Amino acid sequence: MTHQITDQLRRVRESISSACQRSGRNEEEVTLIAVTKTWPPEVIQAASEVGLTDFGENKVQELTSKAPLFPKKTWHMIGHLQRNKARQVVTHAHTFHALDSLRLARALNRLSAEAERVLPCFLQVNVSGEASKFGLDPEEVGLFLTEMDPFSSIQIVGLMTLASPDLHKVRGEFQLLRRIRSQHKQLSGTGLSMGMSGDFEIAIEEGATHIRVGSALFGPRH
Ligand SMILES: *Cc1c(COP(=O)(O)O)cnc(C)c1O
Repeated sequence: MTHQITDQLRRVRESISSACQRSGRNEEEVTLIAVTKTWPPEVIQAASEVGLTDFGENKVQELTSKAPLFPKKTWHMIGHLQRNKARQVVTHAHTFHALDSLRLARALNRLSAEAERVLPCFLQVNVSGEASKFGLDPEEVGLFLTEMDPFSSIQIVGLMTLASPDLHKVRGEFQLLRRIRSQHKQLSGTGLSMGMSGDFEIAIEEGATHIRVGSALFGPRH
């Protein structure tokens, strides 16, 4: 298993490296999050052995069962979250990537304060306009940021998006996310969580600071 991950990781790192070169960026600006959803702890162990440090899960239950087994790793909750499961995210995740409502923000803020921590959060924005996608509409971001002001136990660390499956559209969508960041002074200096196995090179060219990669590292999920 380690061999297989080594090969695929080498390929992913080469792609990251060339995307950085093409766009004049430094590789250190890009955090590779290995998305281990559906994969068992043995796969995470193998991935740790080849040097991966950041892991992502999109379901609370999987986060809760896997993160405590690898406490030295940095865990990212990347999927939609229901308020009644916010506590587990505050307990187990280093960073939350899918903040998309004020009520959820309020719950996370209260629980983080109780836990005496600050939770880094990316605001999820729906840039493709698909009704099936979670996230704020681009024009809602400004008001949302203002409403977040008093929440001192949440730190907004950037914007996150899922691009549409249409590869002709993704570059424009990533550019839109970046443009939204530049329109709000509260977001200056923050990151962009965008790009998955099929589109992370484009995402890096358009400024991604966090890419969330599953199948390109671990193969297809069953
Ligand atoms: C599954 C998932 C990914 C990774 O998808 P791959 O195509 O396997 O790289 C990234 N982000 C989110 C939110 C996901 O749920």
